Amino acid sequence: MLKINKDECTGCGLCVKVCPFDAMHLVGEKAQDDEKCTLCGACVKVCPVDAITIERKRVDPSKFKDFKGVWVWAEQIDGQLRNVGLELLGKGRELADKLGEPLCAVLLGHNVDEMPNILAQNGADIVYVSDQEILAHYTTDAYTDVISALILTEKPNIVLFGATSNGRDLGPRIAARLQLGLTADCTGLDIDDKRQLIQTRPAFGGNIMASILSPYTRPQMATVRPNVFKPPTDAAKKADIREVDIKVNKAAVRTKIVDTIIEMEEGALKVDEAEMVVTCGRGIKTPENIEVVGELATELNAALGGSRPIVDQGWMKHHQQVGQSGRTIAPQLYIACGVSGAIQHLVGMRTSDVIIAINNDPDAPIFTVADFSIVGDLFKVVPAIVKELRRVKAQK
Ligand SMILES: Cc1cc2nc3c(=O)[nH]c(=O)nc-3n(C[C@H](O)[C@H](O)[C@H](O)COP(=O)(O)OP(=O)(O)OC[C@H]3O[C@@H](n4cnc5c(N)ncnc54)[C@H](O)[C@@H]3O)c2cc1C
Repeated sequence: MLKINKDECTGCGLCVKVCPFDAMHLVGEKAQDDEKCTLCGACVKVCPVDAITIERKRVDPSKFKDFKGVWVWAEQIDGQLRNVGLELLGKGRELADKLGEPLCAVLLGHNVDEMPNILAQNGADIVYVSDQEILAHYTTDAYTDVISALILTEKPNIVLFGATSNGRDLGPRIAARLQLGLTADCTGLDIDDKRQLIQTRPAFGGNIMASILSPYTRPQMATVRPNVFKPPTDAAKKADIREVDIKVNKAAVRTKIVDTIIEMEEGALKVDEAEMVVTCGRGIKTPENIEVVGELATELNAALGGSRPIVDQGWMKHHQQVGQSGRTIAPQLYIACGVSGAIQHLVGMRTSDVIIAINNDPDAPIFTVADFSIVGDLFKVVPAIVKELRRVKAQK
């Protein structure tokens, strides 16, 4: 909460000038904030008479023990659970066991049918289910209302969201409403010796990995990139399925889905779901040359992806970008063609099972993560592989 000491305020207006959200005004020559204030603190820093302070909600550490359970938001789209929720149940199990607390899945939707059982089979001890027509499709307002209210009543210790488009929208919205800390886009999670959640994520353009704690607020919240963790393999069990009695006020939902447009070409494989992915880097030189690498993807029935420059130049769609600001992927086979292997690219693909790199520079960093390194001109190497694949297929 922002507090303005009106006795100290001189009405200099510096806070009004620096406020990035246009939330500060002078009323009767005294500073006044409005509902647009995000508590960013820009005004606090510039106030020459220290008249502005921010009171952040903190939980008394002695009350931390009242917060129990590792929660995973199980996102569903059109009745299909997204894989990242199952991946988070895999990691969540490990965290919950370390803490000796239950692992819970939170499922919102309509006609959710078998989904709670799938979550139980993937290790959830408790599944909270809110099944309402208004929750059939994701909306920020409705999902924030239900999950925020549930957090306030059940007091979980940790809440994890997949860093999908919706998860990246929902997690921060709930954190802002409940005034909680949140670490976005984590690539690692663990528990320290004080039972705190260690949230690891790339920082400074991916050049360092930062370990972040939320020491003042509970629950601890994080969004986690898809394909970072593996879904559990042997978790089958029965869960306690609890219906959530929180009704959404329809008038409070300010958006409605009018249409869904799928950006991908029909039949195209998604880089973050395919078992094999072939990517082009700037080494392909022109957009017409994408076809050279595309043929290899077609022969393997692999998804076709690209490095960021390829996407930035408009040669491929954003959903095809692999890396820190694109998709994090972990296919069984990853083939990089003319990709140098910048750290921002590597963080998005280095957990692939088998990596083949084709590059004409023997010192290219991509070779440091490759299982098979082919030093050569991709315009000779890739067609040769395609030819060999066709020969082998023809023999079969
Ligand atoms: C905040 C931030 C986020 C970023 N996010 C991403 C991201 O999500 N994904 C991403 O990819 N990048 C990302 N980047 C950009 C990243 O730093 C690199 O610039 C980018 O990955 C380089 O792409 P590239 O490997 O295609 O191109 P280059 O670095 O130019 O490499 C081209 C490679 O092709 C090789 N080559 C050239 N000709 C041939 C040939 N005929 N045969 C074989 N090899 C050949 C060259 O030796 C070279 O190694 C990000 C950068 C920042 C700052």
